[in-house]
Amino acid sequence: MAVVVDEQIEGIYQQVRAKNPGEEEFHQAVKEVLESLGPVLAKYPEFAHQKIIERICEPERQIIFRVPWQDDKGHFRINRGFRVEFNSAIGPYKGGLRFHPSVYLGIIKFLGFEQLFKNALTGLPIGGGKGGADFDPKGKSDNEIMRFCQSFMTELYRHLGEYTDVPAGDTGVGGRELGYLCGQYKRITNRYESGVLTGKGTGWGGSLVLTEATGYGAVYFVREMLKVRNDSLEGKTCVVSGSGNVAIYTIEKLQQLGAIVVACSDSNGVIVHDRGIDLALVKRLKEVERRRIADYATTHEDARYIAGGNIWDVPCHVAMPSATQNELTGRDARTLVANGCFAVAEGANMPTTPEGVKVFLDAKIAYGPGKAANAGGVATSALEMQQNASRDSWTFEFTEKKLDEIMTRIHATTYQTAEEFGAPGNYVLGANVASFIRVAQAMVALGFI
Ligand code: GLU
Repeated sequence: MAVVVDEQIEGIYQQVRAKNPGEEEFHQAVKEVLESLGPVLAKYPEFAHQKIIERICEPERQIIFRVPWQDDKGHFRINRGFRVEFNSAIGPYKGGLRFHPSVYLGIIKFLGFEQLFKNALTGLPIGGGKGGADFDPKGKSDNEIMRFCQSFMTELYRHLGEYTDVPAGDTGVGGRELGYLCGQYKRITNRYESGVLTGKGTGWGGSLVLTEATGYGAVYFVREMLKVRNDSLEGKTCVVSGSGNVAIYTIEKLQQLGAIVVACSDSNGVIVHDRGIDLALVKRLKEVERRRIADYATTHEDARYIAGGNIWDVPCHVAMPSATQNELTGRDARTLVANGCFAVAEGANMPTTPEGVKVFLDAKIAYGPGKAANAGGVATSALEMQQNASRDSWTFEFTEKKLDEIMTRIHATTYQTAEEFGAPGNYVLGANVASFIRVAQAMVALGFI
């Protein structure tokens, strides 16, 4: 039986590869989920009969569009925009927009695929989608960003709606970009439809805690993983890759819980500061002045900047990859484990390569995969949607408590599912299986969608 199921799943994976040539990141994300599904098909044969896996791997809708805009010198520029509406079985498509030069269909599809399972894990009524453009916001003026966002939304708006598809931010799309996107949506539609985008400014329909949510949530997830091991974050040495929104608020919550964060990074290099990262400085450099992390070392003489360095070489107890996909390789995972790292939680989406994941699972360290550990961002987006729907705005304390409860519940669900399916401590299996079952059951219930 198990062999037949394995062959069936391998067949599906080969079909996905053949139908989506060249989309390596998408193949990787699909493979990782499919590898967990053998015991699910054995328990729920109707999923195989109804070809639920094949259906889930095919997005409901994929939109690719031209984004023409003009730079400050008057030159015409053309980018490519995407929105992949992956699955709406449990709610409107929900997922961020990424503006980065590496964006192509394979990246958006991997992110959308991850998103639909992550969103299912939150237990909230949100489907999965993702979008973005191969636009590089680095070095662009505010006016250029605004013109780009307006052009992007001039096409995208027709696909959106608070009951249809609700984007948010991701890499390269933060408060500034969401403001311009939201403004353009409003101009075109003449509707103040707050629930159509999340991550809005708190003065115009946004939720408190959303900025902090992905980072805070990832730390709550680590706290829970350590709790079942009778341990805590107090006094632990931590390393957080990146220095964007996720990294900043991961560092903040780690510090609040008594951990010492000794390193962070950007795509140019690594900062190591043994007495603990000065978060106020990182915030100023990154959030206000939009500068590189190298400038940190000019303020703190006892900090080291390693140009082109590898952050995973810095010894730590807890590692939190919070930068980008495939940033942590098999070699890096071996280094971390050899240096005594016993917990890893992913603030970024798919930051660990398949070889790295295997190293963590074999070493039996506490390893929280992105779709569980970084679900706090999108969960808080769903809380923003709740507030918008009821024309309400909640306090920071109330919203943070809800986020904490959701992360604690995601941990419990993934932990218990792993036990139930014979893989105790394996949060990868727990997350994939629990979320797949939720989406699959909804698809069966809804009929032929
Ligand atoms: N981009 C975030 C993520 O990867 C948030 C998505 C959202 O809030 O819709 O989950």
